[in-house]
Amino acid sequence: MSAPPLLMIPGPIEISDAVYDATCIRPKSHVAPDVIEAFGSALEAMRGIWLASADSTPFAVPGGGTLAMESAATNLVEAGERAVIVNTGYFGDRMGMMLERRGATVVHVRADVGEVPSLEAIEAALAEAPTKAIFATYVDTSTGVATNPKAIAALANKHGALSCFDGVCATAAERFEMEAWGADVFLTGSQKAIGLPAGIALWVCSPRAMAAREALSAAPPLTMDWLQWAPIMNAYIERRASYFSTPPTTLVWALAVGLKEILDRGADAAEAMEIRFAAHERAANAMRAAWASLGLTLLPTSTDHTAVTLSAIWYPEGVDASMLPKVKAAGAIIAGGLHPECKTKYFRVGHMGEVVYRPDDLLRTVRAVATGLAQSGHDADVDAAVAAAKAVLEA
Ligand code: PMP
Repeated sequence: MSAPPLLMIPGPIEISDAVYDATCIRPKSHVAPDVIEAFGSALEAMRGIWLASADSTPFAVPGGGTLAMESAATNLVEAGERAVIVNTGYFGDRMGMMLERRGATVVHVRADVGEVPSLEAIEAALAEAPTKAIFATYVDTSTGVATNPKAIAALANKHGALSCFDGVCATAAERFEMEAWGADVFLTGSQKAIGLPAGIALWVCSPRAMAAREALSAAPPLTMDWLQWAPIMNAYIERRASYFSTPPTTLVWALAVGLKEILDRGADAAEAMEIRFAAHERAANAMRAAWASLGLTLLPTSTDHTAVTLSAIWYPEGVDASMLPKVKAAGAIIAGGLHPECKTKYFRVGHMGEVVYRPDDLLRTVRAVATGLAQSGHDADVDAAVAAAKAVLEA
């Protein structure tokens, strides 16, 4: 029997064997001593992976990345306050909708598909009027475009605004130094580069972000409220039982295993994260070498703002989404386009999480994509594409 196709969409992704094993347990109580220990250790590990300060507050709450986004929108900003969005696609639009529902005045700084707004344009938007918070998607999963959170956090600090970054397609893969960069919120979902199945929303808040919530005059909905969840998280960190809403104990169990795996690769969190960022960069470079050898063009217009977690690739002349089942039959499940302006014109391949340590899986994915392209009429040299990626992985 041949192996099942690899899950190479930009999330959910392939998970490690240890994480898989951890999900195969009998249900556990949320107040069981071993669950309390797992939850507490996972929250502590988040501070390490986020490169966040010891006085930051980590949250792991049942839900998806969208819930994490909405918690940020509703805890940082209230009616009448101004928010700036660095909008690079689909998820910037979504954040705008959430903030508008909250009654905020929303200013989008947009760029064409495949581009990022200039830092000058972002600064001009901040300078225009007092701004409560700036929101940016680190990696827009619809386009594969990466913004520059370090520079955006610095601009926010210069202009007295809070900064919030959607890391749903970035956290634990793209470099992010929460404390050193002075960022206020960095959020993600468990099904992306962090390497779990879907189901947990994860974010870390700076003390300043928590203070902003405390200062709100209108509280967010109860299940979004950081002040509701923070005592629960703090209890688990102190290894005490606590209850607000039942946590997904099986996923929390697996989360502790997965985050420990990430951190165990280095002597400390700083080293482990350098190793992780470098592994993602190498995998991305290998995939890009393969795409170049196949004569393909990426949506992001410059490698300066191309994500390491996925490739968004224009279909070559004469090829369309009918290629995707062919790629699957050849061994990898990949995704179609998502950006409303051009979603039928490109496809996406995820390369984040555990697969970056599995060269054979990356090469199998290249072979599957190249085979699908060849079967769709593109002049693709399958072996040359695989060799191009392999050369990078073995360098
Ligand atoms: N932001 C980004 C950048 C994403 O890629 C996604 C999911 N693809 C989300 C937010 C929303 O996450 P979820 O689907 O888990 O709600």
